[in-house]
Amino acid sequence: MPGLDTPLGRVLGGGTANALRKAFGMQVVRDLLTHYPRRLDDRGELTDLSGLVEGEHATVIARTLSVVEHRYPARNGRKAGVRTQVVVTDGNQQLPMTFFGQHWRSAQLKPGTVAMFSGKVSAFRGARQLAQPHVEVLGRGDDVEEYDEEEVQRYWPIYPASAAVSSKKLMDSVKQVLAVLDELPDPLPPALLAARGLRSYDRAIREVHQPADPAEFERARERLRFHEAFVLQSVLAGRRRELREMAAVARPGRPDGLLARFDPTLPFELTAGQRAVGQRIAADLASPHPMHRLLQGDVGSGKTVVAVRAMLQVVDAGGQAALLAPTEVLAAQHLRSVTDLLGPLSQPGTLTGDWAGTSVALLTGSISAAARREALLDVASGRVGIVIGTHAMLEERVTFADLGLVVVDEQHRFGVEQRAAMGAKGGAAPPHVLVMTATPIPRTVAMTVFGDLEVSTLHDLPDGRPGVRTTVVPVADRPRWLGRAWERVREEVEAGHQAYVVCPRIGGTDIEPGQEEAAEDEGYAARRPPRAVLDVLPELAAGPLAGLRIAALHGRLAGDEKDQLMRRFAAGDIDVLVATTVVEVGVDVPNASVMIVLDADRLGVSQLHQLRGRVGRGTAPGVCLLVTEAPAGAASRERLDRVAATSDGFSLAQLDLETRREGDVLGAMQSGRRSSLRLLSVTRDGTVISAAREAADEVVAADPHLDGHPLLAAEVAALAASQQAEFLAKT
Ligand code: ADP
Ligand code: MG
Repeated sequence: MPGLDTPLGRVLGGGTANALRKAFGMQVVRDLLTHYPRRLDDRGELTDLSGLVEGEHATVIARTLSVVEHRYPARNGRKAGVRTQVVVTDGNQQLPMTFFGQHWRSAQLKPGTVAMFSGKVSAFRGARQLAQPHVEVLGRGDDVEEYDEEEVQRYWPIYPASAAVSSKKLMDSVKQVLAVLDELPDPLPPALLAARGLRSYDRAIREVHQPADPAEFERARERLRFHEAFVLQSVLAGRRRELREMAAVARPGRPDGLLARFDPTLPFELTAGQRAVGQRIAADLASPHPMHRLLQGDVGSGKTVVAVRAMLQVVDAGGQAALLAPTEVLAAQHLRSVTDLLGPLSQPGTLTGDWAGTSVALLTGSISAAARREALLDVASGRVGIVIGTHAMLEERVTFADLGLVVVDEQHRFGVEQRAAMGAKGGAAPPHVLVMTATPIPRTVAMTVFGDLEVSTLHDLPDGRPGVRTTVVPVADRPRWLGRAWERVREEVEAGHQAYVVCPRIGGTDIEPGQEEAAEDEGYAARRPPRAVLDVLPELAAGPLAGLRIAALHGRLAGDEKDQLMRRFAAGDIDVLVATTVVEVGVDVPNASVMIVLDADRLGVSQLHQLRGRVGRGTAPGVCLLVTEAPAGAASRERLDRVAATSDGFSLAQLDLETRREGDVLGAMQSGRRSSLRLLSVTRDGTVISAAREAADEVVAADPHLDGHPLLAAEVAALAASQQAEFLAKT
């Protein structure tokens, strides 16, 4: 009685089962049946060849145009052989392919033959081609079906295939399995299916693999997409419930506490958003369940002061707070801005300090061993109320006297499991957690990846911000503009301001992996690595910026060097900072008014938005120049134009989402969620995701442990476990 959990070896030949396991890690029937076709091809129609992507495995139906056989004699120890060059077409485009030592190909693929070809798309002398593809002849001439010996199946599912297992092989294996499979029971509640007019699981699985026509294929996918969204949302609904039921120490505010004394000392009025979010957080902290809140707000929206106010409330209630930054530069800067904001409140027990204040300690890799020992002791004894460090503190053995709140800055990848790790540091009860990010998270992503967090947003920037004007400097069509850009830097410096020059790379001998990819798929400047800090600095110092005080900031410097540089820059002792994207997040030097980004097309949209947020933070308006070699019309050039045209981080995040590949989006957002989504797309399926979330909430609320839905409970448990496993594998 084969079912979803039957090992593939029992329903398929041992060789096939083995190949499937090796190629895709498939073990049981479920693994094969949830390896859904990518698309449906009409075997009478040719595949559009323009969509082939270099490096990917592709399956296409095409017609041969020409076949040329080259025979070469034995030479230099090489045996004599044959190479067959075949060119196929979809009617518009052509695609060459090469076969080695396959004499029969020229007879098999006579011009006019229609066949399914699958293989890896590679580039040969600048043109795309398939090397040694797998071939499945479908017919000849106009009447494709005439030569078909098997029973005719008009629509062919095209599977994600591999070199060893072709799409056709997958199709045949699925056919074999479906023929002997028992009717599949449905994990989704029948009432839900009826309400949404969805077909049964059994029918959807069969029809997605063997649809009668494209409409049936679509309806099957619709059902499976909802299925996927619903199971995922059930996991998240369950987690939200667990969190709500978990106990934490309530940290209510005090009318006579530090927070009450802090507010009147602020040199500005809180924005309406800061006040509203502050109230939500205050209420969360006062409740006996752990807060899990994500605070998103564009660069400069003033998240730090929101965090400081939350930390003070916790200190007022007798607890400690930790503020974690992604880099040492930022941690050191947070220490400065937090102590500045707190003023005397951060120096309890000193002559100028406030007797009732609280101490702030820095705990990063760059402090001396002695300072570190002392800080650790102070944290453990509770003498320190606020600890500032890097995310690395999560993995370190830091003991707190009574950790009440963890604030994680600029880290939206902060996963459930990391939060759990943090929870363990709180001792008996987990601390409240506030995650802050300037990378706005589109709603669909918030609902899938962060479905167990409450989300708050700061929509408004503090008044009176001069803002940033962004201009693209296309050196390909406007070579003189670059010189003008450097003049602009000089002018700003002469006016008493400071500048950033950002390069995608540090330089030296290494090219960081991944840096070259962006250029490759666009074909221009293909092999040139992006500009590097270590090359650009001497060029500028000897050329256009001669005489200015220039320094380099990048990730290869030691922590204390970086910190010292930032201090000197903040103090105005450095005019121009040539840096990598380490200045991307959070760096706050209000006197900096101009930023030049070299090879801006090599950086992501959200990254550029973050970067330019570093200027225009003081009274002077900021200028951001995005220098690029991308020619007009190139996709990456259009991306830069969009960045220049809008200052709204949310719409840019949406753009980022649309232009990146699905897996990259999820991968970048958080590890551990990629493989659970097969048909569901966070970039397209917002409606399905919302509907599934609502449905899952209802089902979980009525039956928290899904006792009435054992099959669903099993799927939910399996998904939760696989996410956990994936997370562990990555750390
Ligand atoms: P981000 O949200 O990017 O972390 P910050 O917290 O660094 O922003 O705030 C940016 C700047 O705005 C800081 O110099 C901060 O002191 C200032 N700021 C914060 N809130 C206000 C406000 N309500 N009015 C005026 N300035 C503010
Ligand atoms: Mg910040």
